[in-house]
Amino acid sequence: MADFNHLLPQTSHFIDGQFINGAGEKMPDIYPANGEAFVDIAWATSSEIEQTIAAAKRGFEIWRKTPPAQRARVLYRAAQILRSKNDEIARLETLDTGKALQETLVVDVTSAADSIEYFAAQAATLTGEYVGFSGAEGDWGYTVREPLGICLGIAAWNYPLQMAAWKSAPALACGNAFILKPAELTPLSALKLAEAYKEAGLPDGVFNVLQGGREVGAALVSHSDIAKVSLTGETTTGSKVLKGAADGIKKVTLELGGKSPLVIFDDADIDSAVGGAMLANFYSTGQVCSNGTRVFVHENIRDQFVEKLIRRTEALVIGDPMDEKTQMGPLVSAEHFKKVEGFYKSAPSQGECLYDGGIPKIQGFENGNWIGPAIYKPKDDHQSIARDEVFGPLLSLFTFKDEDEVTARANDTVFGLAAGVYTADLSRGHRMMTRLQAGSCWINTFNVTPVEMPFGGHKKSGLGMENGKWALDAYSQIKSVHVAMSPMEYPY
Ligand code: NAD
Repeated sequence: MADFNHLLPQTSHFIDGQFINGAGEKMPDIYPANGEAFVDIAWATSSEIEQTIAAAKRGFEIWRKTPPAQRARVLYRAAQILRSKNDEIARLETLDTGKALQETLVVDVTSAADSIEYFAAQAATLTGEYVGFSGAEGDWGYTVREPLGICLGIAAWNYPLQMAAWKSAPALACGNAFILKPAELTPLSALKLAEAYKEAGLPDGVFNVLQGGREVGAALVSHSDIAKVSLTGETTTGSKVLKGAADGIKKVTLELGGKSPLVIFDDADIDSAVGGAMLANFYSTGQVCSNGTRVFVHENIRDQFVEKLIRRTEALVIGDPMDEKTQMGPLVSAEHFKKVEGFYKSAPSQGECLYDGGIPKIQGFENGNWIGPAIYKPKDDHQSIARDEVFGPLLSLFTFKDEDEVTARANDTVFGLAAGVYTADLSRGHRMMTRLQAGSCWINTFNVTPVEMPFGGHKKSGLGMENGKWALDAYSQIKSVHVAMSPMEYPY
């Protein structure tokens, strides 16, 4: 393996504008492609948590009084810094996640920078409204959009930098202070974001990074000085975070799991739909929350679709994630591999195997968490591979006859994160968008997430939306101010 030491941060946390080694227990960060630890990261202690909260309080007092146009300039500079380090940060993200460099070079840093630029542009547009309710010369009112205070972001491991930016950028644009707790498996790129914010001139204490596991996350969620929590993670974690935030009546945004449907009608462009189904199942080795893992194909095109899908799946390049030709890297961890392998082992008893990529042997990477793509036709819609989130490259393929039937089956899930439809019929495409129960939907494409569009889940897939102007509501509150223009007549 090439030497990546020069890429590695030398510290664990970022507190009050300083990179800190940390006094807590050190945990190894492991490269998913070879199972080797390449750096140790300290988990935050309770006194470091308190130190960070105190710094964020000070940071908040400075930042909330900073003119929004100045906030915007800092954010723009941070985005530029990230873009200028695209290749370096992409390599770091690949080292942490195992995702193919081919992906991280064009998605992770770009998407983070896009988000920071977008919210920089929003910062100076935040205004209140005049509310005239009494006629000329009478009382009137106005609204003020205020920041919430200290916001907490807790990230999952599949898109670490993207999540750090999607959460911190709207929070900072609104004038909040921010504490980020990255996923324990992928701690590194958060420190690169901290570096960019610092270099861009963000005042000390406004953005902080604390490493750690679920205990650190839980301690922060229930801390009385945290005003808002935004979590990306499993649905069960979302429920715990909601409970932890309940006593403090904290605002919560949840981006959770899914088992999303992708519906392909018989008038669809089949080659494009096959590409969409592959993207929706094999990108990032299947570790994408909004993946369309239940692929419903109209029975008239089933054979043609499956033949093309298998031919193109066989051609997928699996291997060294740092090789730009590689399309699929390993799964993120040995523990996650075991979970996904469990689904693979039980899959043959749950349906017909259409393709099984097996466990690839990659020379020089014998201890990596490798798993090949698999395509199954489950016996029915209720098998666990068809209902539960695998979070690996296992595609469940079903056939259907008509729109009503496929709508009912697509919606028959506790999740509601995403949905996609491939069809040449405009009316049907839009009709399906009204019928499918999901927060993030696509017509004739899948899993593209421009920052201008809100992203989030319905049902058990989440609460609230990230991105787009709607994210600003999640990081600010409205104050209503009544102005009396003449003495009030009191009833006593
Ligand atoms: P996870 O729920 O195990 O962990 C997510 C984060 O929550 C981690 O930082 C973890 O340390 C923290 N955490 C865990 N328990 C906690 C607790 N009790 N209190 C506070 N923090 C706690 O999820 P994961 O395995 O890291 O990520 C995979 C999951 O994330 C999948 O279910 C996937 O669908 C989901 N996900 C959702 C989206 C989305 O936008 N909807 C995006 C990516 C991933």
